[in-house]
Amino acid sequence: MLLNRAKLLASPAANTVFTTVLTRGPVVRPEIARITGLSSAAVTKAVKPMIEAGYLEELPQGPRTVEGAGRPAHPLAVRPDREFFVGVKVTADELIGVVTDLRAQIVGIAHRIAVTDRSVERVVGDIAALVAELTPAHAERTHHIGVSVSGDVDRPGGVVRYSPFLGWHDVPLAELVGAATGLAVTVENDVKALTVAEQWFGEGVGADSFALATVGVGIGCALVVNGRLVAGGYGVAGEIGHIPVAAGTGPHCHCGARGCVEAIASEEAIVARARRAAGDPDLDMAGAIDRAHGGDAAVRAVFDEAGEAIGLGLAAMVNLVGPERVVVSGEGVAAYDLFEEQIRAAFTTQAFGAAARCPLVVRPLPWEEWARGAAAVSIQSLFTA
Ligand SMILES: [Zn+2]
Repeated sequence: MLLNRAKLLASPAANTVFTTVLTRGPVVRPEIARITGLSSAAVTKAVKPMIEAGYLEELPQGPRTVEGAGRPAHPLAVRPDREFFVGVKVTADELIGVVTDLRAQIVGIAHRIAVTDRSVERVVGDIAALVAELTPAHAERTHHIGVSVSGDVDRPGGVVRYSPFLGWHDVPLAELVGAATGLAVTVENDVKALTVAEQWFGEGVGADSFALATVGVGIGCALVVNGRLVAGGYGVAGEIGHIPVAAGTGPHCHCGARGCVEAIASEEAIVARARRAAGDPDLDMAGAIDRAHGGDAAVRAVFDEAGEAIGLGLAAMVNLVGPERVVVSGEGVAAYDLFEEQIRAAFTTQAFGAAARCPLVVRPLPWEEWARGAAAVSIQSLFTA
């Protein structure tokens, strides 16, 4: 039954129409057509099954429109409590779970489970335990879950091909989580999932194209072009972490290449280099940040190099893709003051011509926001063919 409904709702226009009502609603049909560039007939065709299934509702009154030839137009709005969605962000240390309504607004509090064992079986069991913590009222109307994981994720196939921080290769996560929870599962790369939430509610609202880059344990990036998340022909797109900025001579990267941005600017890379610079094998990230703030020139230089690598990676991406703006987030922005100058200097030097005008917006996003992104992709999957 779920499958039949999904087939009915999913069409190339449906995702666009739903996103428009979600972000701009309440909104009348002619306005949806104007915003999306779809024909009135295409909008009407996409909207009909969404109303019948209760995902959208027609509000009783609205302004008269010229297009409506004097007939009152009924604005369309999303019915937020039609269904609830679980979003789970899997990190190397923790699972963060939220429940959202159909507008991807978090309802209730976030649930967290510490990851003490990164085996697939254990993590899947923990995800099922998170789902079991849902309140019964939400559980009754929850049929979908989105799970976000860092690394190379095949969303259509529901497979985590490679996640370096979990040590996973070719894990059929959607199938396993589906069997453990009874929910329909969407698995997505975590940065892409966060980008969907930003596109709907954050810095991406109203932008035809934007990029979201994250710095921290990994260096990631996802792209929205012409209003759509770039999936990548092979599932990989926007991997600025693996742009070579010191090819051949730089440090080895876990991906097998050399001189990648991530091999110089990830948290692990910074800590390893700071340990050598400080001659302290026990130094951690917090300690490295303290030393750099305290004026340790050798450790400070490690952050400078990291900032330069990130700036070069961002410039390469902006030169190629040309987004209207770049949002920089991730847990690494806590130390942003240490490398912001170098990021901006390298970016400005390497960005070609007018591309240097592309603003870099720094925006800390808590883990709950990443889990919300996972829920957002599961909402999106309702309308994606
Ligand atoms: Zn690499």
